[in-house]
Amino acid sequence: MRHIAIIGSGPAGYYSAEAAQRKFGDDVAVDIIDRLPVPFGLIRTGVAPDHQSIKAVSRRYEKTNLGDNVRFVGNVTVGQDITVSELQDLYDAVVLATGAPHDRELDIPGSDLPGVIGSAAFVGWYNGHPDFRDLDPPLDARSVAIIGNGNVALDVARILAKTEDEFVGSDIVGHALDALKSSKVEKITFLGRRGPHQIAMTPKELGELALLERARPVVEAEDFPDSGDDAMLEPGMRKSVTHLRNFQIAAADARHKPIEIIFDFFAMPVEVQGEGKVERLMVERTELDQNLRSIGTGERYALDCQMVISCIGYRTPPIEGVPYEHGRGRFANSDGRILPGLYCVGWAKRGPSGTIGTNKPDGFAVVDKIEEDIGASSRKAGRPGLDALLAERGVEAVTFRDWKKIEEAEIARARDGSPREKFTDIAEMIAARKT
Ligand code: NAP
Repeated sequence: MRHIAIIGSGPAGYYSAEAAQRKFGDDVAVDIIDRLPVPFGLIRTGVAPDHQSIKAVSRRYEKTNLGDNVRFVGNVTVGQDITVSELQDLYDAVVLATGAPHDRELDIPGSDLPGVIGSAAFVGWYNGHPDFRDLDPPLDARSVAIIGNGNVALDVARILAKTEDEFVGSDIVGHALDALKSSKVEKITFLGRRGPHQIAMTPKELGELALLERARPVVEAEDFPDSGDDAMLEPGMRKSVTHLRNFQIAAADARHKPIEIIFDFFAMPVEVQGEGKVERLMVERTELDQNLRSIGTGERYALDCQMVISCIGYRTPPIEGVPYEHGRGRFANSDGRILPGLYCVGWAKRGPSGTIGTNKPDGFAVVDKIEEDIGASSRKAGRPGLDALLAERGVEAVTFRDWKKIEEAEIARARDGSPREKFTDIAEMIAARKT
């Protein structure tokens, strides 16, 4: 029997478990350990609540978990309840699938002012992550600056702009829906340090902006290169740029929509200013160098805003004793192998890029590496060893069956039209498994 511990129950963790199941059949026991009592990581607390079709992939992970050889071990914090090196003693392979839950730092003066929020916190707040339930973003802001031109920036703008009716069918948590209902937001500005041809927004997600009930995307024609230049773009990017150009064509018809979502391209935030809270963002105009990097032109202007949400990417928190690449915010690894017996997958391996599906080949590749490195069977203690250690330390793990009870309780308390009302407090989650 091979023993594998996977730390993190998001997509990368579950695809790795599925791959191990397929490769080793009954000859493997996989424990997926998560610090939360609920599984699925980014699917539950990262993917936007109005993107239920993406969230539906959790059904596939559930199937993986129904096999006897894969076990969910929730409510166990690696680094606190048990260390990575203890896990290495117990298992033949330890796979870090810890994602990239921390914001890349917005390193400009004033970024510590109240009202400057990272996307991990904001997304976690509207998705009911226990760490961010008390965020209380200043939704009395009339003008919000969103830094970054990626899909997370799009999610954040869309959630800020939607009406209550547009959240029907979503699982946005009640505290966020209530707060958003009384939001005063009239103007949302995306600040992109480069131009329309350099956005990181994918077409389907960008196209949704044109369909919002009360918000309209606004672009400036002079920011665009000649339309003929679009032919050089790869097809997905070309579609995204076509959406941007169409926003301009449709602008006159959308004028009745009260909320503006403005694309400010070639705009680099340089300082957040305000007396005790955000009042404005100082921005420097940029241009592109030969390598398409943004460089400041020296021209500066102020954008009045009362909230700044930075959506500039994420990083994986380091774990003591595990080699780490600080510049890239991920574990130092060669194709997922940190060292024989210790591996990483997903954002912890690659950095925060790609779609949910990108994690699938990662999972399969890491299991190939594990097969190369470990023999067919081992004398490691595996599951019983973990259970004994947790019992000794008084740590009460949450099982997949417990999770199904928590899920049932979340479904039972859902508001009309919503698939679930998530528990946002760990104690509440744990209590719900006993109902
Ligand atoms: P991202 O795609 O890497 O976009 C980050 C954006 O921030 C880029 O526009 C980048 O500009 C900008 N940026 C980085 N550092 C900056 C700085 N210091 N100042 C100003 N701007 C800065 O990251 P993301 O939006 O967080 O998304 C992470 C991953 O999740 C992506 O792969 C994304 O596609 C995926 N995702 C997918 C969905 C979906 O499919 N529905 C939803 C959400 C997220 P430069 O290009 O100039 O660096």
